[in-house]
Amino acid sequence: MSTEAAIKDLPDDAVVLELEDLVMHFGPVRAVDGVSLRLRRGQVMALVGESGSGKSTVGRCIVRLLEPTSGHVRIDGTDVTHLSRAALREHRRQVSIVFQDPAGSLNPRMLVGDVVAEPLRLQGRGLSRRDRQARVAEGLGRVGLRDEVARRYPHELSGGQRQRVSIARALMSDPTLLIADEPTSALDVSVQASVLNLLADLQRDIGFACLFITHDLSAVEYLADEIAVMYLGQLVEQGTRESIFARPSHPYTQALLSAAPVPDPVQQRSRRAVLLGDDIPSAMDPPSGCRFHTRCPVAVQRCVDEVPLLRRVGANTVACHLVQDDGSGPDVRVLGGPSRWTPAGLEDGVTQDTAPGTSPTRPQRSTG
Ligand code: SF4
Repeated sequence: MSTEAAIKDLPDDAVVLELEDLVMHFGPVRAVDGVSLRLRRGQVMALVGESGSGKSTVGRCIVRLLEPTSGHVRIDGTDVTHLSRAALREHRRQVSIVFQDPAGSLNPRMLVGDVVAEPLRLQGRGLSRRDRQARVAEGLGRVGLRDEVARRYPHELSGGQRQRVSIARALMSDPTLLIADEPTSALDVSVQASVLNLLADLQRDIGFACLFITHDLSAVEYLADEIAVMYLGQLVEQGTRESIFARPSHPYTQALLSAAPVPDPVQQRSRRAVLLGDDIPSAMDPPSGCRFHTRCPVAVQRCVDEVPLLRRVGANTVACHLVQDDGSGPDVRVLGGPSRWTPAGLEDGVTQDTAPGTSPTRPQRSTG
């Protein structure tokens, strides 16, 4: 059955991917710590965060390049968390991945035609040589490449062409879910947009669900239906693209978005780019309470002492003590905002004893 036919058989609201309390530890390194999310048929979800947030590890657990420490990965309702070697073959037909670096993910000694045909061979599809060549030509055509590219080696192609070959190979197995792991970040800026547009066109035409992993929130604005933001192994905010862009609630999401220009010039002038300073802390020894507290411009003592739970706030799901149930809270992008904002109703209060425009006093890390 073709991808289109298989996907059309799914109900409109079918859950294609479900992660339940996914945990991936590498010894003492807590790379992913309790991530739960759902992706429905034909949806594009962007999984966003800095390098070290654990987002690529989530992608590798889904395609089962890694076996999760605990939790569950379900694809089309089937639990694939601990599949046997034999069952993995069917799983890899349903779920494909496009990696960041096409040069590293394509075998340099194989002709492009053989690279693209590899999923057909691995899945034991008994196609004749002629049928296989026809499928490869069709696959290359789908990503805007001529069939003669099949007779070249990957190093003879440009970076953008190589990434198109990677996408053609990923779609060859007719997946219902595509994991795109930073698919444009290793490419020249001049070709990034064309590869993103290609992915968007293919997703719309074929209808596969897509988990788009990226550190760049502005890259997902025209592609994603849903956005999930990760920080140090955990989800901190999730919502629709519209709600995240119009009203991000979590200070980390606001900081990531602060670099993106706003169309309204008045609003733009009142905004500042938030520099988070220090690198993301080590996943071997994550900060207590809210893991973002060591870099958060509006952190209070409660953030050090107490883990904020993910909860529904308006259209988004947010993990932050200072976001109120009605969605109000600090906006670290507003000039002078953190030092002017008063957290009504908080017993411990913010350490906002600094002059406007300066940094608030850092809360003390719990020693207990
Ligand atoms: Fe910042 Fe505290 Fe909210 Fe964490 S819980 S994002 S430290 S205000």
